[in-house]
Amino acid sequence: MSERLGKLRNIGIMAHIDAGKTTVSERILYFSGKTYKIGEVHEGTAVMDYLEEEQKRGITITSAATKCFWNGHIINLIDTPGHVDFTAEVERSLRVLDGAIAVFDASEGVQAQSETVWRQGKKYGLPCLCFVNKMDKIGADFDMCVASIREKLQAHPVPIQIPIGAESDFVGLVDLIEEKAFFYDQLEVGADWREEPIPDSLKDHAQVARHDLIEAAAEFDEELLDAYLHDRPVSVESLYRAIRKGTVEGKLHPVLVGAALRNMGIRRLLNAVCDFLPSPLDRPPAVAFRGEKQEQKVEIVPDEKKPFVALAFKITADKHGDLYFLRIYQGTLRKGSRVLNTNRNRKENITRIFEMHANERFLLDEARAGEIVAVVGLKETLTGDTLTDTHYPVQLESIRFPETVISMSIEPKSAADRTKLGEALRILRREDPTFDHTYDEETGQTLISGMGELHLEILQHKLIRDLGVDVRVGKPRVAYKETISVPAEGEGKFVKQTGGRGQYGHVIIRVEPNLDESGNLCRENVFVNAVIGGTVPKEYIPAAESGIHEGLGSGPLAGYPVVGVKVTLLDGSYHSVDSSDLAFEQAGVLAIRDALSKAQPILLEPIMRVQIIIPDQYFGAVQGNLISRRGVITNTELHGTTRVIDARVPLAEMFGYSGELRGATAGRGSFTMEPLTYERVPEQISEKILLGY
Ligand code: GDP
Repeated sequence: MSERLGKLRNIGIMAHIDAGKTTVSERILYFSGKTYKIGEVHEGTAVMDYLEEEQKRGITITSAATKCFWNGHIINLIDTPGHVDFTAEVERSLRVLDGAIAVFDASEGVQAQSETVWRQGKKYGLPCLCFVNKMDKIGADFDMCVASIREKLQAHPVPIQIPIGAESDFVGLVDLIEEKAFFYDQLEVGADWREEPIPDSLKDHAQVARHDLIEAAAEFDEELLDAYLHDRPVSVESLYRAIRKGTVEGKLHPVLVGAALRNMGIRRLLNAVCDFLPSPLDRPPAVAFRGEKQEQKVEIVPDEKKPFVALAFKITADKHGDLYFLRIYQGTLRKGSRVLNTNRNRKENITRIFEMHANERFLLDEARAGEIVAVVGLKETLTGDTLTDTHYPVQLESIRFPETVISMSIEPKSAADRTKLGEALRILRREDPTFDHTYDEETGQTLISGMGELHLEILQHKLIRDLGVDVRVGKPRVAYKETISVPAEGEGKFVKQTGGRGQYGHVIIRVEPNLDESGNLCRENVFVNAVIGGTVPKEYIPAAESGIHEGLGSGPLAGYPVVGVKVTLLDGSYHSVDSSDLAFEQAGVLAIRDALSKAQPILLEPIMRVQIIIPDQYFGAVQGNLISRRGVITNTELHGTTRVIDARVPLAEMFGYSGELRGATAGRGSFTMEPLTYERVPEQISEKILLGY
């Protein structure tokens, strides 16, 4: 078992958009023998990027898992999206990785968005290799790139290779561990390479770089440390061992170099994946919880003989039924077996298990701990759910997704579309937990909501193209929320005297802002029962609470959901014959409406974390424009002639920003954004919103 697992690598590629993630993934698949024709990204045929939407935009949005083979190792390549609009996607895929390759553009060094992804990787303690790509590009500068990894990411990059030449003179690399040079035949786009001694012109440089490498690695291996301290020759084996240990512990980030587009450096990158990145056995055990309140912590280990535990990290709609991508953390999964979804407390069937390759799939009878597979047959499972052996109800930490901040009405174009819409929305929701949909009974409208304009646009295209439902859409709208600013009391009395048995429910409540210890507003609503002496009988309290929650769903200002309120049930009265759950529920609704309207309700709006990348010459114009959008610039950095601006901007002010930014920067500016928090809308603006401007 451990031999199989020891040779397994579950890895992902993290990169700033355009750094070459797709090209590197695709070359990895090519060299590891699984694709036979190299598809260039700009022709839109890259193996991993199979979604039309991704090809059109040239960005990678969803993750696909692909298995390939190298040097007796199995590599599961999980395609992690790099676009910050989809942080949740990144988080979800990082969760199931054991290690990663971070790809950098040699002419850019660390770019703004790589920092976000790197931070997320750090959160999961992800061991990482750095690949300095595009060494053939004008402006490529290996040392600058390594320095920026060290400074901007606070990482510990240690080159294990150095490039031979740069830009159009980039012809190969020196392997500092083996002390050999590798030259690539440019005419054959790197299909062939020659191994040669290190060229004289690079000998001194290579020696210094190797010394640095040994110095950095020495603390991870005693034999190496001993040799280093006593100035004795170091053995190549001890160097490999030390780099591996440092990398697995996340304390060292080996740096490799190449040009994926020219197929340079990919084979050695694959070697490094096998040599230095961890197998599932090298990783700390996953943590799960069991018990009624999830109070018992359990360690989940990659042992195929123990009870089965897996995480569903990705669901995609497929012609043959939905495909659920699982990472198996423990035990063995057999085809035709029943498993327990511990998040939904449902038993589910696994009808088929697939091993996924980029363009084909193979049926398996079973899959074991450490592996990543796709299964068919699940019905109730959502992304982030835990599946287990039916006798082993544990739950892995769930993946937390941000709330949706923008919504849009959609309307089916025909009666046939109307019938299909419900199912299509369900499919979308299962695939993408950052998407939501609601049906408003009053207006008869269906609303879809998500994380940003681009997200809604992609969802809309998926509905129309992939799921064949034709819809008309409304304008995207900000998902405001309401809260209160002062405490207040409210009363609700629901009394109906009809012929027979009447209705009687009566409650008095207090509402106040739900503040934490430091006085910040918590977004949750809480309910406290402080009734003394049974003025509201115990059995009716849940009904009153449920009415209060219902009332909080629609605020007094404009019907937006109310957040951050602490509700205390103080008092009330009942009638021995006429009281019922229904009457107390209604009393709850009336009381909360009454209390909220007296508590000086205010409007909250989503604030986005925005990152803008522009040529520096446009900085003044872009900055002025941001300020006019109520933006607050939190940081700006200059990288060469590129300016990176970090800002917080209300979502309401970001509509149509991409067009305006393009206009202001001659098409050269780009930006990304993701939800950050909710904040109070300034009064004047709030008035306008409430008046419907
Ligand atoms: P992604 O957005 O990170 O997936 O990046 P892509 O793989 O789509 O690459 C972005 C662009 O950079 C494409 O036009 C590629 O052809 C180009 N590219 C990728 N690797 C290299 C390289 O090694 N050298 C050069 N010069 N261009 C590259």
